[in-house]
Amino acid sequence: MDYYSRQISKLIQELSSLPGIGAKSAQRLAFHILNMPKEAVEALAAAIVEAKEKVRYCKECFTLTDEEVCPICRDEARNHKTIMVVENTRDLAAYEKTGKYDGVYHVLHGAISPMLGIGPNDIKLKELMQRLQQEVEEVIIATNSSLEGETTAMYISKLIKPTGIKVTRIASGVPVGGDLEYIDEVTLLRALEGRTEL
Ligand code: ZN
Repeated sequence: MDYYSRQISKLIQELSSLPGIGAKSAQRLAFHILNMPKEAVEALAAAIVEAKEKVRYCKECFTLTDEEVCPICRDEARNHKTIMVVENTRDLAAYEKTGKYDGVYHVLHGAISPMLGIGPNDIKLKELMQRLQQEVEEVIIATNSSLEGETTAMYISKLIKPTGIKVTRIASGVPVGGDLEYIDEVTLLRALEGRTEL
């Protein structure tokens, strides 16, 4: 990219390090940004920096939030005795979009993957077990149907079984290897309603 000035090349390079942004998209975005009014660029940059500074884990469910406890965990109208375990905040958002789930969540921030060297201690599993010391009636495991998601589901169910708490797994109507966030709401609801006890 030597035919661009150093600053432009740097911007393109930074943008292309983002997921799903190839070299072409990065160039398009870079020139779009350069053509934006200065205030708009400043607002964009500030939003990125502020989000990074202020967003943290909810101390209950570990989703990403800018408050100590996220709005879902704070909501007393929700059923705090049902916890849905998801891999990440995007999966949580996918279930929230259906508007049909009234329990709370637990965000693992990953899945167990022996291949990638990600073990149980690398995800928020200890934190889940700690939460189960409160009154919990059901844990719904909604990890992805990928190998990692299934491995994680099996691992969690084995951990929870001895506690006597009901453990369920969302139905496998979800395409294998499919990321939850890309699945439509109807499929998600069907998976939730058709969950089976482990
Ligand atoms: Zn929360």
